[in-house]
Amino acid sequence: MNPRYTSRRWEYLPDFAQEQLPRYTSYPPANRFSPSVGHGAARAALTSLPANATLSLYVHIPYCKKLCWYCGCNTSVPTLKDPLDSYVTALKAEIAQIARLAPGTASVTRLHFGGGSPDILTPRHIREIMATLRGHFAFSSLAEIAAELDPRGLTPATIDAYAAAGLNRASMGVQVLDRGVQQAINRVQSREEIESSMRGLRSAGIESINMDLMYGLPGQTMGHVIETALFASQHDVDRIAVFGYAHVPWMKKHQKGIRTQDLPDSETRFRQSEAAAQSLESAGYLPIGFDHFAAPGDSLATADMQGRLRRNFQGYTDDDATALIGFGASAISSLPNLIYQNASDTSAYREAIAERRSPVVRGITLTEQDRRIGAVIEQVLCNFEAVIPGDILACSRARLAPALQSGLADLRGSHLTVTSRGRPYIRNIAACFDPSHASQAGKHSLAI
Ligand code: SF4
Repeated sequence: MNPRYTSRRWEYLPDFAQEQLPRYTSYPPANRFSPSVGHGAARAALTSLPANATLSLYVHIPYCKKLCWYCGCNTSVPTLKDPLDSYVTALKAEIAQIARLAPGTASVTRLHFGGGSPDILTPRHIREIMATLRGHFAFSSLAEIAAELDPRGLTPATIDAYAAAGLNRASMGVQVLDRGVQQAINRVQSREEIESSMRGLRSAGIESINMDLMYGLPGQTMGHVIETALFASQHDVDRIAVFGYAHVPWMKKHQKGIRTQDLPDSETRFRQSEAAAQSLESAGYLPIGFDHFAAPGDSLATADMQGRLRRNFQGYTDDDATALIGFGASAISSLPNLIYQNASDTSAYREAIAERRSPVVRGITLTEQDRRIGAVIEQVLCNFEAVIPGDILACSRARLAPALQSGLADLRGSHLTVTSRGRPYIRNIAACFDPSHASQAGKHSLAI
């Protein structure tokens, strides 16, 4: 039986469900980045990209009009001391700075505006950033251009500016429809706002729409999760991501607005995740990895069927570019042998650019072993199976034993398969191959 499908009731296993684990949007995960790897390494990696490299570009907009209390992103509300205009000026300068290092013959196959809320940009900002990107990089005519958009801030002028920029995929934050839960997370938005944003996007020719939903929010019930999942599935969106709220107020100060006692317990979270999966699969969506669902025919579903699914900093993707280059405060870049990150603080980022310095502050040079372990983790998370090289299996056996004994995975020789019982615990199984995961308690979100 294909373990991806929710064909039977999931079993709640507290020892696994309550484990704190990385999401492995990269391997090694970001908490292993070091300040000793900086702009020198970034410069060398960019200049040694092959002439025929394909590039995936990411532009981080670290601003929102208002903060949602559940937010785990690097974002803030723009102020007089921290204005959006000067951030956009710095972004344009960084794009030019990096373009001088990357091969001029490289082709851009992806561009993603993330945040924060990229809809906070004015039409002029959007035009200027796109003109700078297109002026410095060669875009493939088939490039996917995507943006994360907040239905609350989306005006017809913003939609038109993104459409003119070539946007062909929009990701909308929906999270939950219930007004009481929305108030508890400081993000009130009506169904009408969401529907009118979708109509606006579609009439501007932006046909591919994703929605992000959440479970595990304060006061959220199973009924709220199912109501929102049904709403998403009834609006003919291409992809739906379902994320569990990660309550880490010691790392994200604004999460202090959420009272711990209002949060669903671990088993309720687990059942909410299951209910979302059941609702979306019953509506015809195909499960992709552990938190995505795609309409049949969507390129992510096709990539999954063809074994081309990958993970990057945005989660599951069919992006196969040679290098991911991030622009903006906190943006992460991933090159064949190096991952590096810009300063998260917007003032530090702006100052570095204004002084013609690199904003890179930390990173990690990948060893051959990092790449091999990363490939195993990615295969488990994407394909629910992997062939494990002998040395990696030998080092992981003790960590893997509880999952094997509990019937979450099956190991025949070197071939590991996640069972249907193990599907909800796929992050636990993947983490068994990460030699440093046992020492990371308290730094990550719950497995489910
Ligand atoms: S709109 Fe998105 S990025 Fe901004 S605070 Fe809310 S969740 Fe965070």
